Amino acid sequence: MDLTFSPAAEAFRVELRTWLRENVPAGYGTDSFPEFESQDEEVVFFRKWQARLAEARWVGAHWPAEYGGRGAGPEEHYVLQEEMAAARAPEVINRIGVNLVGPSLMAHGTEAQRRRYLARILSAEDLWCQLFSEPGAGSDLTSLTTRAEIDGDHFVVTGQKVWTSWAQYADYGILIARTDPSQRGARGISYMIVDMRSPGVEVRPLRQLTGTSEFNEVFLEGVRVPRENLVGELHAGWTIAQTTLAHERGTSPRQLVIHRILLEDMLRLAAVRGADAAMRQRIAQFAIEVEVTKLNNWRTLTRLVRGDKLGPESSFIKLYWSDMSQRMHDVVMDLLGPAGILDGGPYSVARGRLLRSYLYYRAASIFAGTNEVQRNIIAQRVLGLPR
Ligand SMILES: Cc1cc2nc3c(=O)[nH]c(=O)nc-3n(C[C@H](O)[C@H](O)[C@H](O)COP(=O)(O)OP(=O)(O)OC[C@H]3O[C@@H](n4cnc5c(N)ncnc54)[C@H](O)[C@@H]3O)c2cc1C
Repeated sequence: MDLTFSPAAEAFRVELRTWLRENVPAGYGTDSFPEFESQDEEVVFFRKWQARLAEARWVGAHWPAEYGGRGAGPEEHYVLQEEMAAARAPEVINRIGVNLVGPSLMAHGTEAQRRRYLARILSAEDLWCQLFSEPGAGSDLTSLTTRAEIDGDHFVVTGQKVWTSWAQYADYGILIARTDPSQRGARGISYMIVDMRSPGVEVRPLRQLTGTSEFNEVFLEGVRVPRENLVGELHAGWTIAQTTLAHERGTSPRQLVIHRILLEDMLRLAAVRGADAAMRQRIAQFAIEVEVTKLNNWRTLTRLVRGDKLGPESSFIKLYWSDMSQRMHDVVMDLLGPAGILDGGPYSVARGRLLRSYLYYRAASIFAGTNEVQRNIIAQRVLGLPR
């Protein structure tokens, strides 16, 4: 196995590194990330940043050129994450669009849908959300009760979704709803695009442990969705939802960036505050795990670029990175000691950024499918164990 980068990937790295040096916004690249007055202000900032990245075609670089990417291979895709981490550059905001919607539309959408939506996903002109989970349907998504009734050339959607990340800022959402009420389970579900500004869509933000509101409740009351917004075949949306979920679980490039930054944080804190032998062992363990995650990601990306579909093995990746993120944050909090619980103020470290990150990552074993559910998938579909 040759694990050195190709000359093309190295050239890509040099071009990107130069671009990042000139373009990473002030305050990034160091420990002092900028503070925002409000979440709205933060969203405006991140939208602009993604537009700038996209203009230089660094967002979705592995997408085909016809849809705004560079047709970059897995090596370049990996290099991109690595360089973003090294530069401590801000992340893209439209992650649901780029990581979930884009690949799902490329696999199952019509050409008209791809032309209409894909480029605007990359530039963050349109932000997207994922309208899958419901109050009574999370792990068991096929028990959803949101229905979409056919009315001429429209669907009329009624129901409730919950935990919908970024819905309050989203222009569009990917929705799964029951179109055939005579069917149960995975059958009779369709997958469609909802314009979040449509009459009948009501979004109510939920305040989270971190004090901010990433996710929302979404109420849909007689929302009219044009038939042309159906993705794939009528009543066959569950297959498409599987593509979306596999992408949610199976590639974790963002996690690579986060894990790298966390490891750097640990090293910096250990250097300043000291670390005994046991702590040094814990940190060294993460240096190894960051490397293992990198190689695992690389393997997944190689499969994607070869045109292979992501299968139930993607559950391994989700399980591993979410557990690893939480264990890494535990070490960071141990290194911080009592100062770790301060969310801002003169005695806080990094103005509470690490504390907020620690709190946020409690959710990692829930979102993108809970870890118990990932273990079930591995047991049944990978290991062939009985139910
Ligand atoms: C930060 C965050 C962001 C999210 N963003 C979105 C989003 O944008 N869009 C969206 O659609 N959803 C989103 N979700 C929802 C997420 O996908 C669900 O929370 C998740 O699928 C679990 O569903 P649930 O919360 O209904 O829990 P439940 O399914 O009710 O599970 C409750 C508990 O029971 C366990 N359990 C359930 N079934 C089994 C089983 N068969 N075997 C063993 N244990 C089981 C679970 O592991 C869990 O511990 C988000 C969640 C979080 C935390």
